Formats: sequence, C-alpha cells, structure tokens
Amino acid sequence: MLAEIITIGDELLIGQVTDTNSVFIAKALNRIGVSVYQITSVQDERAHILKALEDAENRVDIVIITGGLGPTKDDITKKTIAEYFEDHLVRDASVLQNIEELWKRFVKTELLQVNKDQALVPSKAKVLMNKLGSAPGMWLEKGQKVFVSLPGVPYEMKALISEDVLPGLQGKFQFPYILHKTLLVFGIGESSLAERIGAWEDALPKHVKLAYLPSLGKVRLRLSAKGFDRSQIDKDVQKQIETLLPLIEDAFFGFEDEEEPIGALIGKQLVKLGKTLAVAESCTGGKIAEQFTTNPGASAYFKGGVVTYATQSKIDVLGVSKDIIDSYSVVSSQVAEAMAKNALRVFKSEYAIATTGNAGPTKGESDAEVGTVFIAIACKNKVISEQFAFGNHRVKVIIKAVNKALEMLQKEILKN
Ligand code: ATP
Ligand code: MG
Repeated sequence: MLAEIITIGDELLIGQVTDTNSVFIAKALNRIGVSVYQITSVQDERAHILKALEDAENRVDIVIITGGLGPTKDDITKKTIAEYFEDHLVRDASVLQNIEELWKRFVKTELLQVNKDQALVPSKAKVLMNKLGSAPGMWLEKGQKVFVSLPGVPYEMKALISEDVLPGLQGKFQFPYILHKTLLVFGIGESSLAERIGAWEDALPKHVKLAYLPSLGKVRLRLSAKGFDRSQIDKDVQKQIETLLPLIEDAFFGFEDEEEPIGALIGKQLVKLGKTLAVAESCTGGKIAEQFTTNPGASAYFKGGVVTYATQSKIDVLGVSKDIIDSYSVVSSQVAEAMAKNALRVFKSEYAIATTGNAGPTKGESDAEVGTVFIAIACKNKVISEQFAFGNHRVKVIIKAVNKALEMLQKEILKN
C-alpha cells in the first residue's frame, strides 16, 4: 500500500519552516507497513493544492495533508478540499464546542468569527477531533482512497496521527509488516565498510534490503524487510544480522532504535552499570553534554559538564596546570587527559570525556593545525586520549569530534 504526503504552506517553500511533519508522518506510516511514495510541499494556493491532490490520487491510495488549516489563511485549504470532493462546508457542532471549551480554558479572550469558522468542515468529512487546538483533522474517502487533512502545528498533527489516523488506516486496510533494524557502525568509512561486508551484502535474500546512511564519523546500516508473515520476517532479518555482526565486530556500536539516539543508548548502559559521566569540553562547546541532556532521564547518570573554552578557564575552572599547557600547548593529548581526569574529580563521576582542539577557520590560542582535536576519556585509574584531524570545515569538525567522543566512551564502557 502506498501513501503520499502533501504539506501546505508558503513558509515551507521560502525555507522559513523546515518540513518536519513529513518526517514524522513518513516514519509513522512506515512503522505500520505503509510505504511513502512521494512527499510534496505546495503553496497556500487553490490551484496548486488541487493539482497536488489530483496527482497524488492518481498514484496512491492514501494521501495525508498537513497545514493550511489555521484561522488566518482565508480557509483556502478547507475550501479547496471541499471543492476537490465536490462538497461544501458545514458547521460541525462538536468542533465548535471543542473550540469554545479551548477558549474558555486557555485563551480567555473573545472568540472571534475566524476562530468559530474553524468549525467549518466539508460535509462529507469525518471529523478527527483536535483536542490540542482549534483546527480539526478531516478524514475523507473517494472510492477506496483515503485523504486525511491535518493541522500543520506539529504537536497537534502528531497526536492526530497516533490517535486517529494510524488506527483508522489499520482498521480500513490490511498492511504488510515492515521491519527496519539499524546498526550503528563507528570508525570505518562507508567505502571500507562496503568493501568489508560486500560479499555478505551480495548474498542477502531479495526481500531483505540494505541501506548505508553515512554521517560524519559514523555509518548507520539499515536492514529492511517487508511481508505478511511477521515471525518469518523477524527470523530472516535476525539471521542476516547474525552473519553480519562478526564482520563488523570492532566497529559495531549497537542498534539504533528510531526513537533512541546514541547518547540515550550510552546513558542506558551507564545506568545499568550504576556509573556516572561528566564532560569537560573546549572545541565542542557543550555539544557532547547535549547528546546526553536532551534525553529524558539523563540526570540518572550525567553529573554535569563545563565548557572551558579559553586557556585560562581550563586552568581556573578545571585546574589544568599551567606548566602542562606551556610545555605541550593547549591543544595536546596532555591537556585533554588533564581535563578529563580533573572533570572526573570535580564532578565525582566514574567516566569523563574531554575535548580540546582547533575547529577553525583560523588558529586559536594554539599553533595546532585547523581540525586538530584531542579527545580523552578518563575512568577509574585510567585515562586515554587520541589525536584526530577532522578537516577544515568548522561545523563538521565539531560534529565529528562529538561522534568520535561518544564512540571512544562507548568502547571504554564495553571494556568494563
Ligand atoms: P494561520 O492561518 O494561523 O497562519 P496556518 O494556516 O498557516 O495558520 P498551519 O498551516 O496549520 O496553519 O500551520 C501552523 C503552524 O505549523 C505554523 O507555525 C507552521 O510553521 C507549522 N507548520 C506547518 N506545516 C509544517 C510542516 N510541514 N512541518 C513543520 N511545521 C509546520
Ligand atoms: Mg500554513
């Protein structure tokens, strides 16, 4: 079964808002076995919307539309949808009541006509009640095809997708089971990896697909399989993973849960071990700390961090000795290691990560080449460090350093 996503909004086409709705919807549809054939963004404009609807209807069975349902867009989307379905707008009493209640509870100002008009829906539409906002979702059918129009506000859209749209689609159609398993591989580039696992890849059965998703210092390998026999699909993919793992043993980091970023993965391991972590960052500017603190539950293992950017701060805050800095330069393994060891002590943690480097574009307080980064990991009675040359693109240097630091920490944790 195929679906398309149409996002409506001038703001998407001028680059003011990133279309994150499609990403969420595509993932959600894939999870229930619906493949997305195309994603289209169009302007808040009648002819453009009509054309997009017509094109999508010619290609697929399910069309999910988001955006254009707010109170200030002259109702162009709703009017156009009604026109497309040869329908007219009617006032839906339950939606109006929902709007009145929302206003009473949260808005308190006078309910304007534009807000009341949000209760207008095509007469043929089944209303998907939006408990979080005033624009309702709408479910329409044309023959065997389903069209769903949702508000553009991401959290309202997400709630409607999870609570109404997915169950509705599963009730109406029978979808195959799709399994995605993503393996995180660190420290081998895409081409070396491809060479290493080439024979295994060539021997994959036809219904199991492999994708390489490289990004600065890591490669995600995604295995996907689709079919109606769920346990067979699970078995087939598991078997392939078992033959793959020995080939990438030294670089395999874990499985990526779509919902679980690497920082969360490491966090879980630390919690399991009852260990804590601290960071002392220079060139990564807090980005390593962020990898942990964006995940709920980080307080269980993340003690804290400092960004000691200036040389003097490394001395004042972390207590790195001035002698070490003078002898080896501030961008050196000795300084990275001292930062990590001192962070361990300052934060009373069992593990610490430290970075010091030069992200460019010009040299800073050291003579180190642009892109030079030292990363150190300290744990009880031990500190290790490595030197890297991450190129001359500032943002990339930082991201690579963050990924590398997580990889090094993970390796140390696995040793214990
Ligand atoms: P109004 O009429 O009040 O201006 P609107 O008709 O533009 O609202 P929507 O299109 O539903 O209302 O968008 C509401 C909000 O959701 C906007 O802030 C918009 O930036 C955001 N939004 C819309 N589409 C997307 C999308 N595809 N991805 C992420 N955010 C989006
Ligand atoms: Mg809009």
